[in-house]
Amino acid sequence: MTRDAWLTCTDPALMLNFLGDRAGDRKLRLFVCAWGRDVWRHLSDERSRDAVLTAERFADGEATLADLLAAHRDAADAVQEIPLVLGGRHGKGVKSRKGTGTSKSAAEVARYAADPAWDARTAARAVAWKKGATRYALSNHLRDIFTPFRSAVLDPAWLTSTVLAMARYAYDSGDSSAVPILADALQDAGCGDEDVLTHCRDESAHVRGCWVLDAILGND
Ligand SMILES: [Zn+2]
Repeated sequence: MTRDAWLTCTDPALMLNFLGDRAGDRKLRLFVCAWGRDVWRHLSDERSRDAVLTAERFADGEATLADLLAAHRDAADAVQEIPLVLGGRHGKGVKSRKGTGTSKSAAEVARYAADPAWDARTAARAVAWKKGATRYALSNHLRDIFTPFRSAVLDPAWLTSTVLAMARYAYDSGDSSAVPILADALQDAGCGDEDVLTHCRDESAHVRGCWVLDAILGND
């Protein structure tokens, strides 16, 4: 895949296959966590939401493998129970089946997030059948997190206290609207790196694992 193809690709499975072993565990997990955040409103079971939150903490060293395994087990139970719960409450009408499918597939995403064996191949399989808006969103998440055509290392001179504080806020809060302002702070610090500035000013969401935020904060 060429750089231009990467920048315009809307097939997340192709992008994951291209990344292959270069995609580290932490960033791959944060990719599926970003997907989990996208479907958050469909996660009706607390165990599913907890799986996404635990996976985020695990990725950043704030939860143990035992925590992840427990969250994965609970999230798998939640997936299994969805048809029974919705079938019992809402009957078997067309609308109910559609809602059940959406909830079940969202719950599957939450389970993936806490899957201890999550890797690029598993991720590519999981995204392979997604269509339309989901494919587009997942492709953008991959471009936000991975930067296979350049080094993510930034000049330490740009990492002023203002830049560091703004990046920390954006990362911890998930508030993407802070990232374009971060570009201004980087420029004030002398940054003229067009890739970095363009990325920060991109309207797409900047998720946990965003390559620029990671580079500023020194995340692996
Ligand atoms: Zn970003």
